[in-house]
Amino acid sequence: MTGFCRLGEPGRERPAVVVDDVTYDLSDLTDDIDGAFLAAGGLERARDAARAGRLPVLDGADRLRTGPPVARPAAVLCIGQNYAAHAAESGSAVPEHPILFLKHPNTVVGPDDDVHLPAGSERGDWEVELVAVIGRRAWALDSDEDALAHVAGYAVGNDVSERTHQFDLSGGQWSTGKTFPTFAPLGPLLVPADEVDPQGLRLRSHVNGEPRQDSSTKDMVFGVGALVRVLSRRMVLEAGDLVFTGTPEGVALSGRFPYLRDADVVELEIDGLGRQRQRVVAGG
Ligand code: MN
Repeated sequence: MTGFCRLGEPGRERPAVVVDDVTYDLSDLTDDIDGAFLAAGGLERARDAARAGRLPVLDGADRLRTGPPVARPAAVLCIGQNYAAHAAESGSAVPEHPILFLKHPNTVVGPDDDVHLPAGSERGDWEVELVAVIGRRAWALDSDEDALAHVAGYAVGNDVSERTHQFDLSGGQWSTGKTFPTFAPLGPLLVPADEVDPQGLRLRSHVNGEPRQDSSTKDMVFGVGALVRVLSRRMVLEAGDLVFTGTPEGVALSGRFPYLRDADVVELEIDGLGRQRQRVVAGG
């Protein structure tokens, strides 16, 4: 298994790759893991170099903060209600077309960074999601297969949501409740697309150690190939763009669980892509 990551303090992360549990430093190969690196075939080159023993081991990697595995995405595109059971718990019908909303790219933080709820928030919520990372520019793609060929890799994401802003203060535009600072924890790893079956992954979340979501990406209404194809016909997708592919049932919006409070701990994981752990900080 190969996983790309960025390790170090915010804004000063160092690019690295984990191969068979050993972390190698990518600094000699690239300044960062970003759209330009992905579009130039960087993942394949770096993986080959690691396997051939041409990269130095990154000593002390386990003592460094983990940042988001992709730097500076140009766009963070999010799909709503892409699991039938989640649409039902939200009081909605299964969509006929992918529902798109956006987060500001500056919402993206590391997988274990604190999540800050805005002042007065009483309806903060978690959403574990498979995130597809675009590998090269895409426009007006014709097939799901071609769309999947434009995906560089996959990561775990938390589409953190504030439901009062999302539904009551938005005029129906969901982005309003989705784009507060720290509302897009990403990582720990970017796993190359050729090592992932995007429609065969178990995804789970816990709050304070108690189970919340537990589903499979096989239950998506629109699979990753269909989503990327449709999005590419609505806008030009750029290398490094993130596509949050929707969350399964088991969020607080269902009424089955309390909303997030100060000092709660949210954990999210997807098979083969790693695990996130965030502390919730209320009040901004
Ligand atoms: Mn979502």
